[in-house]
Amino acid sequence: MADSFYGEVLADHNLHPLHRHELESANFVCKGLNPTCGDDIELHLDIRDGRIADGSFTGIGCAISQASADIMLELIIGKTPDEARHLKDLFMKMIAGEINDDELDELEEAGALQSISKMPARVKCATLSWKTMEKLLNDAL
Ligand code: ZN
Repeated sequence: MADSFYGEVLADHNLHPLHRHELESANFVCKGLNPTCGDDIELHLDIRDGRIADGSFTGIGCAISQASADIMLELIIGKTPDEARHLKDLFMKMIAGEINDDELDELEEAGALQSISKMPARVKCATLSWKTMEKLLNDAL
C-alpha cells in the first residue's frame, strides 16, 4: 500500500510538475549534471529579503530526478536558505537510510523517495536537485 502511494506521488510530479518552467524573476541559476544517468537540470531561484521567494527547474532527466526536483521546490519555496539547507541535510540522511520518523515528517512528500536508499544506482538521480540547490546557495550567499 505504502509503495503504491509513493509511486503515485512520484508519477503525479512527473505528469504534472508545478515548478518545471523558466523563471523570469530568478536572480540565481545553477546547473546540475548526473552523467551516469544523463540527468541535466538547471535550477532557478528568486532569493530576496532572506527567503527563497520563488523557484523553478528546467532541463532533462529520468523520472526520479525530475520528480525529486519538483518535490524539492515545493518544499523550499518560501523558506530561508538555512531552512532549505536543513531540509537538504534531512534528505541526504533519508537516502543514507539514517532518518528517524520525526525527521521524515519534515520532508513531507520528499519522503516518497525514501525507497531510493535501497537502490544505490538511483541515488545520484534523487539527490541531484538537492546538491544543485546547496551549490547554488553556497555560491549565492
Ligand atoms: Zn536519473
